[in-house]
Formats: sequence, C-alpha cells, structure tokens
Amino acid sequence: MIRAFNRAATRYGVGSGASQLITGYSRPLQRLEQELADFTGRPRALLFSSGYLANIGVIGALVSRDDAVFMDRLNHASLVDAVIQSRSRFRRYPHGDCLALSRLLSASESRRKWVVTDGVFSMDGDMAALPQICAACRRFDAWLVVDDAHGLGVFGPRGSGTVGHFGLGPDDVPVLIGTFGKAFGVCGAFVAGSEALIETLVQSARSLIYSTAPLPAVAAAVREGLEIIRTESWRRQRLFMLVKRFRRGAREIGLPVQPSDGPIQPMILGASERAVHASHALLAQGILVPAIRPPTVPKGGARLRISLSASHTEAQIDRLLDAMSHDHVFVDP
Ligand SMILES: *Cc1c(COP(=O)(O)O)cnc(C)c1O
Repeated sequence: MIRAFNRAATRYGVGSGASQLITGYSRPLQRLEQELADFTGRPRALLFSSGYLANIGVIGALVSRDDAVFMDRLNHASLVDAVIQSRSRFRRYPHGDCLALSRLLSASESRRKWVVTDGVFSMDGDMAALPQICAACRRFDAWLVVDDAHGLGVFGPRGSGTVGHFGLGPDDVPVLIGTFGKAFGVCGAFVAGSEALIETLVQSARSLIYSTAPLPAVAAAVREGLEIIRTESWRRQRLFMLVKRFRRGAREIGLPVQPSDGPIQPMILGASERAVHASHALLAQGILVPAIRPPTVPKGGARLRISLSASHTEAQIDRLLDAMSHDHVFVDP
C-alpha cells in the first residue's frame, strides 16, 4: 500500500488540483470506483474525501424537507449532522429496536421515507439487524441507507461487510456508504448504488462538488487495500480468533463484555473518571486503549473502546486481559 501510494504520488503529485467536477477526477479515482462497484455488486461507486463528507453529501442530495427520516439512536454523529442539515422531519428509535422502527414507519404519513443506519455501530461494535430493517423498509415503502464504515473489510464473505454478512443485495440496501479510514487503513469514503443514484449525487452532492477531490495517491493505496481485503481472508479469520480469545478471557475474569462479535470491544464503565483512570492505567503498562466519553456516547456510558486487529498477537491479548484482571476499576462495580 505504501509503495502504491509513493508511486502514485511520484506520478500524479501530492495534490488533486480541484474538485472532481473541475479537473480533480484522475485515473486512480476512476479505477478505484470501478473496483468498488464490482466489490459491492452495484453498477457504480463514487468517491468522497471522508465518511463525514460522504454522509453530509448523500443525505443532503437525497433527503428533502418534506421527507421523514428514521434513525437508530446510536447512529454515527456524521449521519445525525447530515439529517439535521437536511431539515427533514426525523425520529430516532431506541438502539436496535426494529419493532419501534416499524411502528414509526407505519405511523408516518410522509410521501417519502428513509431509514438510515450504521452497519456496525462505531462505539458499541454490534451490527444493525439489517434483515429486519430491510423487511420493515419493504413493508412500509422506505429507502434504506447503510453506512458500513466498520463492517466493510471485516464482516461478510471477502470482507463484503454487513450487507454481505446477511446475504443481502442492492435491492435491499439501495444506498451503501463505506469508508477507507478503518479496515482499509487509509482515509476517504465511497457511496455505491444504481446509475441513477450516483448520477444524482454527481449532480447535487455539495460536499463532492465544492470540495477538492481525493488524492490520486490515496486512491492508489486504497486499491491495494481493497485487493488485500478481497484476497487475504486469513486476516479476518485471525482477527475473529483473537476476538473470541479476548471475549472468552474477559468473561472468565468477570468483565462486562458487550454483545459485539467484532473487533470493537467496549468495556462500559459508567462514569467518565472511571474510563479515563482505566485508560491511563493500561497506558502505564504500554497498552493503548482510549477512553470514550459523552457526548460521543450516551451519558453514563463512558467506556474503554478496545479495538482488536489481525496484527495483534495472542500474547498481546493475554497481556491485556492480565492487566485488566489486576485493576480493580474493571472487576469492582
Ligand atoms: C468513522 C465513521 C465515519 C466517518 O468517516 P471519516 O472518513 O472518518 O470521516 C462515518 N460513519 C461511521 C459509521 C464511522 O464509523
């Protein structure tokens, strides 16, 4: 990935020159878009400079003031900001509560309805119940937007994300958003969908039109990342082996493990002071685990956010568990 980045930087420079609609659309961007369309099984994909900008642009272009939007209470802040900016009527349903979502959808009299959800919730690590959400969308004629920033590259066959994990397709999830800052290990984002969707976004997503295009060198690095995601499934097997090892060990020492089967393993400690203390204690032992506090998470939900990766070793997982088992902040309520 570094080699690809360097080669492209040497060839194209370290800037992109302008917005994609002026002169910023380069060959590496075009190739990456094509590969992402193939990867997600959709006709087209479109790049954005970040996930935040993708969400602002997509929601801004698609959702109009008369529409109704329904979102999970734990959706990523960028989706919340995007929906607020759209000035549509929006309601948040309790985390993971598909029954509440169905009730809201059935009671809505809006001409056009949207359901917007994270694929994997970024601070809790659990997956959205996409099959049930898709069923509700079909039943009540709502459009589904899934931001799979933490799902792509990690879950599903060949890293196809939560959509692939549940065996769903473009008809179930017409608007799929992914980012390159997590499993891809770079930065940037994309939206994948129908020809009509992408053309609409090219014509009217303001965060695309009025912002400098992603760097060719970044796109070149992401292309290599995508190739690794597609072909090196041993990394996912290794990651999930480490996740299991961590969860088993954590349960054994009485830690409050959460219902997350992926690399994000939150340890909810309640008060911010407790989370910060725990984070410092681990750092003193050479283990970097950030404390996440309100307003990033709900009040009283301060936590350690443990992020596992395929490049961790079993010994590192055991050392983390050992450090946590000897700190009273974890084992005492
Ligand atoms: C990280 C994240 C984003 C933001 O992506 P950036 O590329 O960092 O701007 C958006 N949505 C979700 C669900 C995320 O986890």
